[in-house]
Amino acid sequence: RRGPDPGQRLRHARRRVLPHLADREHRQTQGGGVTDIQLVTTYLGLGSNLGKPEENLNEALARLENYGAGSQLRKQAAIYWTEPQGLKDQRWFASQVVELAVDPEIWAPEGLLSTLLAIEAQMGRDRSAEAPGGPRVIDLDLLLFGDLTADTGFLTVPHPRLLTRAFMLVPLREIAPDLVLPGGVAVKTALGALNHRLDGDRIWQD
Ligand code: ADP
Ligand code: MG
Repeated sequence: RRGPDPGQRLRHARRRVLPHLADREHRQTQGGGVTDIQLVTTYLGLGSNLGKPEENLNEALARLENYGAGSQLRKQAAIYWTEPQGLKDQRWFASQVVELAVDPEIWAPEGLLSTLLAIEAQMGRDRSAEAPGGPRVIDLDLLLFGDLTADTGFLTVPHPRLLTRAFMLVPLREIAPDLVLPGGVAVKTALGALNHRLDGDRIWQD
């Protein structure tokens, strides 16, 4: 016979460790219109062109899921193959965008970025040893955190290069076709203004 499902074990453990959250979960499951948590819709951009790029993207997502129930993977765009920008003499990148539902009481945007940078480091990324725009085992970008606009020195959101990168906008449009960015520009419009070529799962942009 199978043991108790791991999700259930985790929920029990969280109730012991984080009783205030357990209380919220209780209120949520009981319904009755009591304080629903407002989850924040967040988009991440993932990229890799070293080793086995597709596996690296999957590993990064698995590592993020291990940080707990405060963020849940809601949508996953296909993996696209994208021409490197800037430094041309390197492999094409595997690029992906995912949508997360984030509990803002658990994840502040800066905390989420710190975790993304930690996962990059865990997976062997060493910025001090790499050329800017050069090959990387994993790149994790916080593209959007709800409709937040922030520039703290540590974190800039929306991601400062979102509007100029087809490899971010094409997969974003796939999972959020009608999304309008915090500045009021629609994803579709931003993409329409970019000189790029899309053919199946391949994206060219100089
Ligand atoms: P890029 O992702 O544009 O190719 P890097 O991965 O080298 O370039 O990122 C440059 C720095 O930008 C990172 O060290 C990170 O700390 C910082 N940064 C600021 N805001 C963000 C954000 N929203 N998403 C990802 N990185 C960010
Ligand atoms: Mg990055």
